Amino acid sequence: MYDTIIIGGGPAGAAAGICLADKGKNVCIIDKSTFPRQKTCGGLLTVKTLELMENSPIGKMDSSLVLNGINRVSLENKGNKIAEMRCKNDFYLVDRLSFDNSLIEKYKAKGGNIIEGKAVAKINDKGVVLNDGTEIECRFIIGADGCRGITQKYVKRKPVSCAFGIEAEIPIKYVDSSAVLLEVGYFKDGYLWHFPKGEYATVGFAFTYDKGTDYVGLLKAHLKRLGVTEDVKLKGAFLPYGMGSRTVTNGKDILLAGDAAGFIDAVTGEGTYYAVLSGIMAAESLMSSDPVRTYEKKTAPIISSVEKSCALVGKFYGSRDGILNKLKGKTRFLSWFCDVQVSRNIYDFSLGKLSAAYMKYKLFGKGI
Ligand SMILES: Cc1cc2nc3c(=O)[nH]c(=O)nc-3n(C[C@H](O)[C@H](O)[C@H](O)COP(=O)(O)OP(=O)(O)OC[C@H]3O[C@@H](n4cnc5c(N)ncnc54)[C@H](O)[C@@H]3O)c2cc1C
Repeated sequence: MYDTIIIGGGPAGAAAGICLADKGKNVCIIDKSTFPRQKTCGGLLTVKTLELMENSPIGKMDSSLVLNGINRVSLENKGNKIAEMRCKNDFYLVDRLSFDNSLIEKYKAKGGNIIEGKAVAKINDKGVVLNDGTEIECRFIIGADGCRGITQKYVKRKPVSCAFGIEAEIPIKYVDSSAVLLEVGYFKDGYLWHFPKGEYATVGFAFTYDKGTDYVGLLKAHLKRLGVTEDVKLKGAFLPYGMGSRTVTNGKDILLAGDAAGFIDAVTGEGTYYAVLSGIMAAESLMSSDPVRTYEKKTAPIISSVEKSCALVGKFYGSRDGILNKLKGKTRFLSWFCDVQVSRNIYDFSLGKLSAAYMKYKLFGKGI
């Protein structure tokens, strides 16, 4: 019998596990994969994620995991440059296989239990049932099993709406190795990225899932445009996107964290930050006298921020060309936005707060 079973050992589950194991709690992570495992992801981390880890029991991220730290961001609309920003904060590019594995290693080092290579098939009144029929009892469950995991269905909420992303790793010679490229013109409500990571770059795109779209064909066409001749592997995965539900618990003994809860910044598709943050919050809540209420209270600002990011992204793609025309050459504003909002989420995507803060920055040069 465990105090807590965590379903899924990605950043949300591992963060929760590290915090619980750090306090000597009787916890077990169950993951259907065996670590190190592949995770389709651009692997771009912001400074707020690194600081969050550093100021928690997770601790400082090992610098050897950073394949590139980059502060130049190029924004394009169908191949035409909108602006090239030099930000104050770096963006950190990692390989998710190594990053996620480092978190699991930290968890194990703190004495956390783990069952790998077995999926949770069911949740019942006593705990979980694995796909081989083994029953494991526990008092609480953290559902950290990603965007399309099974835990969501045990919480009364509508399923998280999804985007689908597809990417490939290509030799660095085909892209500008000195800048992160964000191309926002090609797709209906998402963007294409080039993330340089030393010897190679991760190139991909994501937008609202659409059954009829030929994602593979679209990525192949882009790789052809870049001149890629090598045979590269294409990998696709779902990520939450769009207004989620505000329900993140079953009111009793299940807490959802990370992608399983629908926690994603819809403007950038960044989910690792919220995964780590909600994992930490879930662990802290389980150590309180009222885990469910505490977790609902703690995660309310995440839900609000996710909703505001969805509203902003809706406005942007609703009048994309007009907005991009206005943003053309607005390097100062866009660099500021990257620094205060993307890197740090200071204004939680609230348009009112962002406008007032930018006016202040323009007038007095303060606020980054
Ligand atoms: C194409 C793409 C690009 C992205 N790029 C970025 C980026 O650059 N930066 C960023 O911050 N975010 C990015 N994201 C989002 C980011 O990958 C996720 O938000 C993040 O991984 C969420 O972490 P998590 O721990 O909630 O879930 P995951 O990392 O998905 O982990 C879930 C775990 O649960 C396990 N699992 C699932 N079902 C079961 C089961 N039944 N039993 C046991 N185990 C189970 C899985 O094996 C997995 O290990 C991207 C996503 C996609 C798809």
